[in-house]
Amino acid sequence: MSSPDGRRHVVIVGGGFAGLGCAQRLADHDHVRVTLIDRNNYHQFQPLLYQVATSLLSPSDIAHSLREVFAGDDNVDVKLAEISAVDPATKTVRSTDGEEWTADALVVAAGSQPNFFHTPGAAENSFPLYSLDNATNLRSRILGLFEHVDRNPMLIERGALNFVIVGGGPTGVEVAGALADMLAVTVPAEYRELDLSAAHVYLLDYGDALLKPFSDKAHGYVAKVLTDRKVELRLGTGVKDVGPGHAKFSDGAVIATRCVIWGGGITAAPVAANCGLAQGRGGRVDVQPDLTLAGSPGVYVVGDVANIPGPDKQPLPQLGSVALQSGQAAADNILAEFDGKPRKSFEYRDKGIMAMIGRRAAIAEVGKNHHELHGQLAHAAWLGVHASLMTGTRDKIEAIIDWGWDRFSKTGGPHVLDRGDAAEIDWEDDPTVTSSAASAGTAG
Ligand SMILES: Cc1cc2nc3c(=O)[nH]c(=O)nc-3n(C[C@H](O)[C@H](O)[C@H](O)COP(=O)(O)OP(=O)(O)OC[C@H]3O[C@@H](n4cnc5c(N)ncnc54)[C@H](O)[C@@H]3O)c2cc1C
Repeated sequence: MSSPDGRRHVVIVGGGFAGLGCAQRLADHDHVRVTLIDRNNYHQFQPLLYQVATSLLSPSDIAHSLREVFAGDDNVDVKLAEISAVDPATKTVRSTDGEEWTADALVVAAGSQPNFFHTPGAAENSFPLYSLDNATNLRSRILGLFEHVDRNPMLIERGALNFVIVGGGPTGVEVAGALADMLAVTVPAEYRELDLSAAHVYLLDYGDALLKPFSDKAHGYVAKVLTDRKVELRLGTGVKDVGPGHAKFSDGAVIATRCVIWGGGITAAPVAANCGLAQGRGGRVDVQPDLTLAGSPGVYVVGDVANIPGPDKQPLPQLGSVALQSGQAAADNILAEFDGKPRKSFEYRDKGIMAMIGRRAAIAEVGKNHHELHGQLAHAAWLGVHASLMTGTRDKIEAIIDWGWDRFSKTGGPHVLDRGDAAEIDWEDDPTVTSSAASAGTAG
């Protein structure tokens, strides 16, 4: 509600690209007071999670304290809390520990979560890549496997060097490329006794091409770069089940593995389902062109958690740029409403799409007309765009140092195994894996 000093109160749930964009825009207006609530005390830069997972960047390069971001803005208060209930009628949110915040305008920007599509064993046994916690967990599992095999090369027969990546979208492709580079360049330089000739990186997708939204020419380029780097592509193939020590593919193959990386899809954050908000495609909340919830004036839903209609009425893609711009547009509409002016429909400014495929290889479609770039030029565009999107100057400098280090050195970035639990493996816990069949890299 309005503060005793007369300032209007805006509550934002989620400090990702959308919530941050909204709060930063409102921070410049002293007649507005903002409460920004997140279950983490930091903003995480999701497009670079795979670089943390593959030891190219440090966690501190891609995560930034929300309190630090708003240290100079007296009208923005950050709260560390998990929201479990949203009441659009009263514009009130409640945390899991029972605290409530009521606002003049409410912004839900809670993002997404991995979608395992009910694949048996996937939630328990695979490694999603959606948060910083996921990324450091995966990094420790990958490094842990190298450490295990360094001590006991017989574990290769149990699939210790088989990596299965599910999903041929940007997450799957970027992880596959970075992992292939790790195996070819940085790991041999540091693990001198490790025999990596038996390592396999499998990349699976039910579709017939990787990075589907790009052109056919781009599909050919991506497939060539990855196969040249020894990634084994399995298109038209998905995963049927995941055990602690194996993955079963839809074509019947069973691969012994201790590292299944899940980039198979996303669905809306649980808050969308738990709060009685009307859900549309992908479990996301349908919003009107001005980003408000139909029938709930003053309630905005933005970023990944929202189905935002594009010019063709189809939902806009779940991208960082859509999230950032929709958060900023929600702020503009909130300010307009407070001033008694009309709200505007959100218009997305499409700057293109890009993906990194590995060292010196990237693909980008830039500008409104999606002009296509491949190779080093696309790599440079990717570096520029991602560095400029990062939250703090310190992050940018540190990330650029790490990227430069990766570009010119053979030893990698931060190969830090800091999650002992993720590296710990009970090699006897999967009855599907037998040592006889596993010697061929498969389980019987
Ligand atoms: C691995 C990966 C790679 C990607 N690569 C790219 C790329 O190259 N380019 C691109 O444009 N996009 C990319 N994306 C997509 C992009 O990151 C998302 O579209 C964007 O982060 C969405 O922003 P958001 O603010 O809506 O959600 P998020 O960034 O997910 O932020 C949501 C925030 O809400 C908080 N939250 C959630 N639930 C609650 C709750 N109940 N209570 C309190 N807080 C809560 C979370 O902690 C989080 O901070 C990638 C995504 C992933 C996962």
